[in-house]
Amino acid sequence: MSNTMNSQIESMLTPTEVLEHLWCPRFTWFMNVQNIPQHEERRYKVLKGKEIHHRREIENKFYFRRKIGVVNKQNNVYLGSPKLRLRGIVDEVLWLKDGTMAPLDYKYTLASEHDVVFKTHQIQIRIYALLIREIYNREVNKGFVAYIRGHQKLYEVPVLAEDFKEIEKILDEIFMIVKSGQIPRRAPNRNHCIDCCYRNICV
Ligand code: SF4
Repeated sequence: MSNTMNSQIESMLTPTEVLEHLWCPRFTWFMNVQNIPQHEERRYKVLKGKEIHHRREIENKFYFRRKIGVVNKQNNVYLGSPKLRLRGIVDEVLWLKDGTMAPLDYKYTLASEHDVVFKTHQIQIRIYALLIREIYNREVNKGFVAYIRGHQKLYEVPVLAEDFKEIEKILDEIFMIVKSGQIPRRAPNRNHCIDCCYRNICV
């Protein structure tokens, strides 16, 4: 891979970076302006490894695809768009019988006791939806999350025009911080500071 391509990929955000920004905009500043990585990276990788192992065991046992009108699928798909400044790997890209496409992501976690998709997972699905729309040039109006711990459950996540706009607005905000180098506002919820890895250097 050429150096130009490498730096292009490095300048694209992942869904995790977007979610971290929403948790606290200063994460963007510490990581991408000050280049101070989080200590939690290792813990995340261990969890992800467990998730992949468990997912492989069960993904072929899911009989839901016919129910949601899947006519084709690809597993473990890298999605990257320099135009959107986004990249990520989605568990499945689905082709649906109505001509639209959709992302599907597995989560090695229990489904919410309130029977809803967690907000962070909704945002992640909408990021993948935006990437699929851009890369495949097809309509994407929904995505799916499968919770695979305990009772396996599949949820549909609607993706509307305003959801795409919301994601694009967040991306603009992140790149504005990186470009200006200015320290952004603190976490919207001060409870987020309690066990934050940056709390000793965040003033
Ligand atoms: S200590 Fe609070 S404001 Fe500072 S980076 Fe952490 S979560 Fe954000």
